Amino acid sequence: MTSREKVFQAESKAKAADLKHRAIINRVLKQSDDAFRKGKEQFSDLEKARRHAANVKSDTIARLDYYLLEFESNFTKAGGKVIWAENAQQALDAIGEICAGKCASVVVKSKSMVTEEIHLNSFLSERGIDVVETDLGEYIQQLAGEPPYHIVAPSMHKSKEEVARLFHEKLNAPPGLTPEELTLVAREKLRQKFREAEVGITGANFLLADIGGVAITENEGNARLTTSFPRVHIVVTGIEKMLPSVKDLGLFWPLLATHGSGQKIAVYNSVFTGPRKQGEVDGPEEMYVILLDNGRTGILADPVARESLHCIRCGACLNVCPVYKNIGGHTYRATYSGPIGSVITPYLRGMKENKHLSYASSLCGACTEVCPVGINLHGLLLYNRRSAISGHHGSVFEKAAWKGWKMVSSDRRLLDAVGGKTKNFVINRLFSAQWGDHRKLPVFAGKSFSRQWKEKMNQDNAGK
Ligand code: SF4
Repeated sequence: MTSREKVFQAESKAKAADLKHRAIINRVLKQSDDAFRKGKEQFSDLEKARRHAANVKSDTIARLDYYLLEFESNFTKAGGKVIWAENAQQALDAIGEICAGKCASVVVKSKSMVTEEIHLNSFLSERGIDVVETDLGEYIQQLAGEPPYHIVAPSMHKSKEEVARLFHEKLNAPPGLTPEELTLVAREKLRQKFREAEVGITGANFLLADIGGVAITENEGNARLTTSFPRVHIVVTGIEKMLPSVKDLGLFWPLLATHGSGQKIAVYNSVFTGPRKQGEVDGPEEMYVILLDNGRTGILADPVARESLHCIRCGACLNVCPVYKNIGGHTYRATYSGPIGSVITPYLRGMKENKHLSYASSLCGACTEVCPVGINLHGLLLYNRRSAISGHHGSVFEKAAWKGWKMVSSDRRLLDAVGGKTKNFVINRLFSAQWGDHRKLPVFAGKSFSRQWKEKMNQDNAGK
């Protein structure tokens, strides 16, 4: 067992037994499930929409090299600059250079999981830059010093009382404020930051190749302020966010909104096609798009795993996952949690240290069933398990144990020769740690069915 796996096991065990945590997230997930059920009524044929979206993403990912260049060409023509980053460090260096060039002391950010992936906040803070999250959920997480808990709802695990306490401690707000009052406190603090910031940083929900556009969807309007107040707008995005055409938004925006939050469409939907043009009254003077690889071309090169690049980060697979519902988002200790996180993290951060995430699944298939772009998530988790074994990432002990298991279980004579006591001892030694204290391991009978049957037949024949 790797050290990461040991931590994962210990934290999962503790979290699953935390009834307060479970009550909060189950309440929020129930609300989100109700909203999703209602929201999906807007599709006359949701299955058809999902199939169409899966086909669009599959074709786009298959020709990603072409679309990336088309995007670059169109975005550059409109006055923007594209920066290619092979890894997190290259992306950070590029952002650091832009901020230094503008003598930026305040940077505002709109919610972006990719900037979490590259640990942008700590990088900028170390350079003396005041970096402020402007999405309310992210702002709460930043004040608490915690990473996001969920792809779409970063602070869903916090009760309103906890948030009120946090605002009282960190912002000196009066104690016991209501959610509406807390929102007003955050709004006042953040408006000031929008005015001060020299640079605004966002992610991208979609990249649009045909117009060189960046599509951003949100509910609070903070992304619009992040992109229009500061003089410089930097987009940091994974290369897989590509769609061929702006026309595809007609399908993908409602799909994302419904599966993410149960809405028909999010409140604010914007498309950015470069910096402010002559005669325009708002928008940044400079706009950059950083196209991040950071392990994604490794996924692309794998003909099976590449399906995971279709993901539009709606978070629906987390909401329905029985494992996520019990252990929550932080236990994964990865930027992306839940089923999609378990699938892609081994590719982004190393198979050996993260292969245990492939087992954080009941393989019930609820994630696959809900995914708006039809990713075979539970199939990919099984594929990762196989890849970890064929890539020799298992321990010597594990390999020897499976070899012994295979030898005994494929030979009836050996299976019958080993008594129930020995079988129970071996199973206990091999699996009790993974099985956990709260479940009973199956118990083998003293004699195998085959032996019992033979003995019975012999007795019956002798009695004739
Ligand atoms: S894998 Fe599918 S359900 Fe999960 S976040 Fe991505 S698009 Fe949504």
